Amino acid sequence: MSDWRTLSLWMDQLDEPLEPRPALGAELQADVAIIGAGYTGLWTAYYLKRQAPQLRIVILEAETAGFGASGRNGGWLMGNLLGEDRLLGDLPAAQRKAAFDLLHGIPDEVGAVLQREGIACDYRKSGVLYCAARYPEQQASLREQLQGLRALGLGEEDYRWLEPTELAQQLRMANPYGALFTPHCATLQPARLVRGLARCVESLGVEIYEQSRVLDWQPGLLRTAHGSVRADWIVPAVEGYAASLPPLGRYQLPVQSLLVATEPLPAETWAQIGLERGQAFSEASRQVTYGQRTADDRLVFGARGGYRFGGQLRTDFNLTSDERQLRRYLFGELFPQLREVRLSHAWGGNLGMARRFHPHMLADRRNGIALSGGYGGEGVGASNLGGRTLAALILGQDSELTRQPWVMRDGHLSQLRSWEPEPCRWLGYNAIIQSFVHEDRVLADPHSAPWRRRLAQNMAGFMESFMR
Ligand SMILES: Cc1cc2nc3c(=O)[nH]c(=O)nc-3n(C[C@H](O)[C@H](O)[C@H](O)COP(=O)(O)OP(=O)(O)OC[C@H]3O[C@@H](n4cnc5c(N)ncnc54)[C@H](O)[C@@H]3O)c2cc1C
Repeated sequence: MSDWRTLSLWMDQLDEPLEPRPALGAELQADVAIIGAGYTGLWTAYYLKRQAPQLRIVILEAETAGFGASGRNGGWLMGNLLGEDRLLGDLPAAQRKAAFDLLHGIPDEVGAVLQREGIACDYRKSGVLYCAARYPEQQASLREQLQGLRALGLGEEDYRWLEPTELAQQLRMANPYGALFTPHCATLQPARLVRGLARCVESLGVEIYEQSRVLDWQPGLLRTAHGSVRADWIVPAVEGYAASLPPLGRYQLPVQSLLVATEPLPAETWAQIGLERGQAFSEASRQVTYGQRTADDRLVFGARGGYRFGGQLRTDFNLTSDERQLRRYLFGELFPQLREVRLSHAWGGNLGMARRFHPHMLADRRNGIALSGGYGGEGVGASNLGGRTLAALILGQDSELTRQPWVMRDGHLSQLRSWEPEPCRWLGYNAIIQSFVHEDRVLADPHSAPWRRRLAQNMAGFMESFMR
């Protein structure tokens, strides 16, 4: 048994003993066989079992429920999808509104299930503050983003600009220029959600086998070292681990995100900072930062990590001193009183980035394969939608869920766009990230000349255009 508790603050906080469930040691026949006990696999099992209790559903997990990103993420449960502007931009207005309503409803849907099933995971729906806080260009870029959202038909009730004085009622930072606020986001304790979901689906009759890595998969059949499962439907739900199940690795780039957590901070510190209702927050650089005040009063703060040549998965998440320092520097700029604070935990995980930079949900009825992924670091909410959608597709339903532009109803894996072969992937990804790092360094320096600032921004903007 591994020391799963060291995977993240969240796994460390669990009250349960973290005993593994039994491994698969037989040849089983099921209706649906799911690979991976993260949110995607568990939500799919949940919605299937709630609607069709007669189905035999088996989940095979290489380690333990929550071993992947689901037990390690930043705990933002967002009511949107990566790339939704591109996915929904061309739809007729009424259809677009319905799609946004579906996305904005994700946090409430999760909240309702938690309530119904008695899963306690510190769920608080208080929205998210995208803050302009480190340099003035952040304000311009957030305001531009807001214009884009307005053009898509989203109003004040969905996204609202907060001037620094209004922002200060929720969050007090060193150098605020304002913030974009949306109520469509909750925060939670990720590992409690994934572990609670696993217990919940088990109580509904789903069989979960742990330490049961799928070594070989094909339509209708999964094999582990000591057993196999034959099933009408196979659901690979491995997101950032797709490389372990060829040919899925072609479609998902495994990139890392890395976080740190402080010890619980005293009430006087939080009185200075705010976030009383557990709002999520970020600062609007291209470093993809995300933070939350946890239920036990820690600051958890993360930022984008790297990509390894050949799509190799990172397994050692003992953060280097540079990786810790970057995160400490970023939150220290927002909250100077925390510059010297002690970090109790530092960790990270792998997530899956699709080549089109938006999620996909697919059902291939001929081969009996259903999958949802490519959430690109925004999968806590998207995986709930993914699970609901896959359940509907497997059950042959035609509904609002299955008629969205991210759904390939009668799809085939080959319709997903593949990543370029190496070394193009590595060179391309790193060139883009380096341009973001350079931009951030130039803009964060108040002495940078205006022409240098513009050049750095234009270069990063140009590089970002390849992510569309
Ligand atoms: C550090 C970090 C921070 C993040 N923060 C946020 C956030 O704040 N908000 C947000 O919306 N999203 C966030 N994300 C993304 C989000 O966590 C993921 O998109 C989501 O958890 C994906 O869930 P999943 O079930 O698809 O994949 P995972 O949770 O990764 O689950 C996949 C499971 O498959 C198992 N597995 C892999 N290979 C095999 C095999 N061959 N056989 C059997 N089992 C296998 C793994 O052990 C794992 O348990 C973050 C991700 C990371 C890494």
